[in-house]
Amino acid sequence: MSHRSVMDEISVRELDLKGKRVLVRVDFNVPIVEGRIADRNRITTALPTIQYILDHGGKVILMSHLGRPKGKPDPDLSLAPVANALEGILGEPVTFVDDCLSPVPDVRVALLENLRFHPGERANEEAFAKKLAAHADIYVNDAFGSAHRTHASTTAVPRLFEHAAAGILIEREIEYLGHILLAPDRPFVAILGGAKVSDKIRILDHLLPKLDVIIVGGGMAVTFLAAQGKPVGTSRVEQGSLEIAKKILHEPRVRVLLPVDHVVADRFSADAETRVVQEIPDGWMGLDIGPDSAKIFAREIRAAQTVFWNGPMGVFELEPFASGTRAVAEALAECDATTVVGGGESAAAVLEFGLAGKMTLVSTGGGASLEFLEGGRLPGLEALTKR
Ligand code: AMP
Repeated sequence: MSHRSVMDEISVRELDLKGKRVLVRVDFNVPIVEGRIADRNRITTALPTIQYILDHGGKVILMSHLGRPKGKPDPDLSLAPVANALEGILGEPVTFVDDCLSPVPDVRVALLENLRFHPGERANEEAFAKKLAAHADIYVNDAFGSAHRTHASTTAVPRLFEHAAAGILIEREIEYLGHILLAPDRPFVAILGGAKVSDKIRILDHLLPKLDVIIVGGGMAVTFLAAQGKPVGTSRVEQGSLEIAKKILHEPRVRVLLPVDHVVADRFSADAETRVVQEIPDGWMGLDIGPDSAKIFAREIRAAQTVFWNGPMGVFELEPFASGTRAVAEALAECDATTVVGGGESAAAVLEFGLAGKMTLVSTGGGASLEFLEGGRLPGLEALTKR
């Protein structure tokens, strides 16, 4: 395996920060609805690193992307509202710098405008990276959600510093995701759901040798049921993943649990007609696991020592199809195992149910956590100073 060891990178806690200007890549890619921040989780998760640097005499210059501007300023994707919100949460002034390449005043906390207002960010341009690097003495990456991208602020910029360290959030992510990848306590249960099979199935290749049980729910389960020749009604089957589903089902060492009942609907809508069935009938689609499946899955979770969960058990955004995902989230919240929720929609569900604090780790990276579990390497981690 290419993963060297858990946390090979220098940590911000190992550096002398006194009097230093510290350029911190954070993930402030928050959802903004009608000019307001709909969810502040990404801001609050960055606080430990910001506070640590301030407490140790450093000055913090924060940088992030927000959304997908086309390499030029877009007022709808300004980070200015985030500077305001951060000021409230942090309880001290945050100076907003309205172009990420403009001079940064000598303040305790500054936030640069959206990096993607410059094309150099996504193009990983050296000239752009040099200008950003000129802002500071030390670089810290705490944006786990962006660590799988080869962009200037995550890869070119850190290489221009003598000291490029991992922030506290990234440290935590690597510690627990690394634990899962390298030495999970057994029984080790993976729960996979969500809509897309293809991007999740690749991680199974790496986790399979260590896994005892794979629980499959959500849209993914339909493809597995189809692979077993079971009826799936009008549910969407990922044809290209049928073979790999069959291979996993035949894996001798691992028990694969599929739903034994389903909440089916006559159409994809919150006010669809619904039924609980053991087999998906013609003309109906499976939009959640049924109550018996939820009980069986919860029992399996209670017996585990390590649980990794990625992908909701149903279309939890619509209340009639949220019960399965809620039951799994509650089972995880109640168990004593190391519980790691991969980012993306399952993390959103856990936050929505108010259960995030009951998990060992709710990863802040969707794509990044999946990519990390595929072998422990991420471009943004490779660019940090090694011990
Ligand atoms: P993913 O990004 O692959 O984890 O997919 C997350 C999405 O899968 C969520 O937004 C759910 O609404 C959706 N989803 C979960 N279960 C089903 C299902 N049975 N049928 C269709 N979509 C589903």
